[in-house]
Amino acid sequence: MPALRQKIVDFLNEFLAIKTIKDASCNGLQVQGAPDVRRIGLAVDACMAVYKKAVTKRCQMLLVHHGLIWNGLTSISGATAAQVRFLLAHGLNLYAAHLPLDLHAEVGNNAMLARALHLSSVKPFGVYKGQLIGYQGVMPQAATVDDIGRTYRKAIGGTFSTLPFGKKKCWTVAIVSGGGSDAIPEAIDKGIDCFITGEPDHSNHHAALESKLNVLYLGHYHSEKPGVIALGKKLAREFGVETAFIDEPTLV
Ligand SMILES: [Zn+2]
Repeated sequence: MPALRQKIVDFLNEFLAIKTIKDASCNGLQVQGAPDVRRIGLAVDACMAVYKKAVTKRCQMLLVHHGLIWNGLTSISGATAAQVRFLLAHGLNLYAAHLPLDLHAEVGNNAMLARALHLSSVKPFGVYKGQLIGYQGVMPQAATVDDIGRTYRKAIGGTFSTLPFGKKKCWTVAIVSGGGSDAIPEAIDKGIDCFITGEPDHSNHHAALESKLNVLYLGHYHSEKPGVIALGKKLAREFGVETAFIDEPTLV
């Protein structure tokens, strides 16, 4: 009988369709640790601080959104070597799901962010490398950008910032988690009232101002917490494993 790790990895690979989604992240099991998995840590970023907390919480597997291995990795040295050494020494499995977890319809960051606003008429939005990764939809009632920001602050924590250059009351919103600023032209084209993403880009200011677009920034980290948390709940239901969210917010 295959060890639970293999069953979980097979399930994740299939559920997240990692083989069919083009990504700079090498999604899947990036570092192989212990075969027996009883507790899974969930985190946004693969980093030493998260690994140490995972070991303290007695996790045998870590599921992260931003993994350790990306296209273009050419050597295991410096901080990367230290991370790999730590993971192997502690038998900690590292599984990464980047874009597959942004765009997933059930547990993805963007699906969860759309659900937090109770949107209707939800449809895919945000073309990235030929794939739609976000969502757009209609608010249950018109809200100011600050109202929407406060709803998210309650749901996912963190602080928010805005470019309040559009309508006072917003009906239509579009969401791309993380660094989704590239989708601003698409939001303008589609006449969206409020575009929501994680992280600002300097060039957004005048682009939004001149097109009278509201932009809401949730913080890269906080906009990408919901996916790993939702996926953890899914794994707990599917496999009866314990899960622990490992909160390690960044200052970005
Ligand atoms: Zn990200």
